[in-house]
Amino acid sequence: MSISLNTVGALIDNAHNLRAYCCSCHHCVKLDLEALALQLGRGHGTMHDDLVPKLKCSLCGSRDVGLILSTKETEGVGQV
Ligand SMILES: [Zn+2]
Repeated sequence: MSISLNTVGALIDNAHNLRAYCCSCHHCVKLDLEALALQLGRGHGTMHDDLVPKLKCSLCGSRDVGLILSTKETEGVGQV
């Protein structure tokens, strides 16, 4: 069985988290998927090209942002 996790709704339904990572200042924030679903719609894509143009680092204003997908089970693993 394969689940395609490429929409906001799919990530919510499958208990995934999405983080945005700023390549300039290394600021990392967890995106509010429920808010994104309200704002963009649950069917909105979560691929880099879909979301990154809409994101901007809240600290330094850089648009050089990466996305990190994680499940709630792996939450906290590998964090510094
Ligand atoms: Zn930044």
